[in-house]
Amino acid sequence: MSLIVQKFGGTSVADTEKIRAAARRAIRAQQQGHRVVMVVSAMGKQTDVLLELAAGVCERPPAREMDMLLSTGEQTSVALVAMAIHDLGAKAISLTGGQIGMKTDNSFSKARIRSIDTVRIERLLDEGNIVVAAGFQGIDDDLNITTLGRGGSDTTAVALAAVLGADACEINTDVDGVYTTDPRILPEARRVDVISYDEMLELASLGAGVMHSRSIEFAKKFSVPIHVRSSFGDRDGTMIVAQAESESAAVSGAALTKDEARVTVLGVPDVPGISRTIFAAIAAQKIAVDMVVQNVGEEGKADVSFTVAGNELASTLAAVQSIVDQVGASGVTHDSKVSKVSVVGLGMAKQKAVAAKMFRALADAGVNIHMITTSEIKISALVPRDQATQALRAVHEGFALHERPADAKTWNEIKAETNVEADVNDVVSRLQNDALEALTLTDIAVVGGQARVTLDGVPDRVGVAADMFDEIGRAGIFVDMIVQGYDGEHGSTSVSFTIDEAELEDALKVAKEICDKHAMRNVRSAKGITKLSVSGIGLRSHTQVGTVLFDQLATADINVEMIATSELQVNVVIDSTKANQATERLKTAFADALS
Ligand code: ASP
Ligand code: MG
Repeated sequence: MSLIVQKFGGTSVADTEKIRAAARRAIRAQQQGHRVVMVVSAMGKQTDVLLELAAGVCERPPAREMDMLLSTGEQTSVALVAMAIHDLGAKAISLTGGQIGMKTDNSFSKARIRSIDTVRIERLLDEGNIVVAAGFQGIDDDLNITTLGRGGSDTTAVALAAVLGADACEINTDVDGVYTTDPRILPEARRVDVISYDEMLELASLGAGVMHSRSIEFAKKFSVPIHVRSSFGDRDGTMIVAQAESESAAVSGAALTKDEARVTVLGVPDVPGISRTIFAAIAAQKIAVDMVVQNVGEEGKADVSFTVAGNELASTLAAVQSIVDQVGASGVTHDSKVSKVSVVGLGMAKQKAVAAKMFRALADAGVNIHMITTSEIKISALVPRDQATQALRAVHEGFALHERPADAKTWNEIKAETNVEADVNDVVSRLQNDALEALTLTDIAVVGGQARVTLDGVPDRVGVAADMFDEIGRAGIFVDMIVQGYDGEHGSTSVSFTIDEAELEDALKVAKEICDKHAMRNVRSAKGITKLSVSGIGLRSHTQVGTVLFDQLATADINVEMIATSELQVNVVIDSTKANQATERLKTAFADALS
């Protein structure tokens, strides 16, 4: 008999009428022959109400008591949902996190799941009940109540679906699916039938906000198909699965992070250990760094630029200021009025000139690009904030995201072509190793035989990046990493990209033409470089990956020439003569996490 997990978010149980509607949906699923487990969030804004209450009695509430308090929100809603089901004539039992055997570590307010005991749930289901489980909460070894972090009910739902071997995990919410971009910003956004875990992970981090990132990491790790749909209608929503909707489309979605700030550390000596010192100082303040760009040094000096959330600019500047002397930097600059536009797509990993197309769309809309970073499936550009929406619209239109690709498939079509049976035994055995929420690295990839081209003195004005990468694309050269960052000493920017070594001569020819055409200062290049990529699931929630990587390289005296990070990968470019040593060090450092 098939089993489905149905999660209802706060807006879907916001009042008694909605609670009864949720109950009816679960009963309908049961009548259709499914075993049903519901995972329910606190009603409406109840968690915020509780947080305010706490603030009223205590300036800094103890974390343990906070979790004790917040868990009551979900306890209220599961009891009410179970009562509503009874009233409608079906059987239901509500259970707290502790009662579903949701064991976590003891980091209050951000606990990680260690294991889930399914025996009680299975027995209650066998007896014909709808099981109504409280989302967001668990217990630690001392039976203290813990919570999983804001939005954590998604994680509860996907974790339960994984351990129960559910056929689907339905996320019933106030939106009717995943869109190519936030429809509140661009009404022309298209609802997609299917999106891949990786695209969703990159988009969730970009602020698409439909689901808790950790829940997607779980779903990917345990191959749980997720169905995001509206709780207020019967229409199918979006399936989040391993495959992409279209095989031909380079880009599946675009996103905007409006409130970013750029910080540049100027003129740091280009020697091993500098990135480590800078980012360790920021990490110590628990500030998440987003785009990171290190310019390839000139005359032994490099500039390191990165972005942080706008509201963290002040604390970031303080942290950086404290190490300026220590790293021998010549100064720090910042820009508080920037936004980040990103495009994401599994398809771009195999296609040429995708970046050029994005830069061209921005140029045609008159938008200047301040900074660029790329990863395998994401390209991000930092743009002036007053042009943010215009920039998003330009790339959305540029990649025709409002149109369904001709080869787009529905989940049923994809399912018919692939074997998507999740292996429940595999899930159970991995659980026994306490690995439910551990960091999983899927790969440490080494791509040798690379070359880098750097253009210095790139004028920071509209259309330059578009022109450069159009020319390179026309020459038929496949560009891998692209980084553009500030060149503090000269008020211009510097752009570096990597290519296959065999294409260096051709690339240099084009680069020299571009340099002359735009009166740039200089073209430089290097051969014999290697790209190291650490890929995995959970890089976002396990931020130490970057720290460990920089630390390992610095300790071995290996200089990092280029850096680009994303949700799923940390990429660095180093000298090929050090590649073996670096790989060995990383394999040892990450031995526990490598699957
Ligand atoms: N009630 C919790 C929150 O508001 C958990 C959730 O809704 O997923 O964050
Ligand atoms: Mg919520």
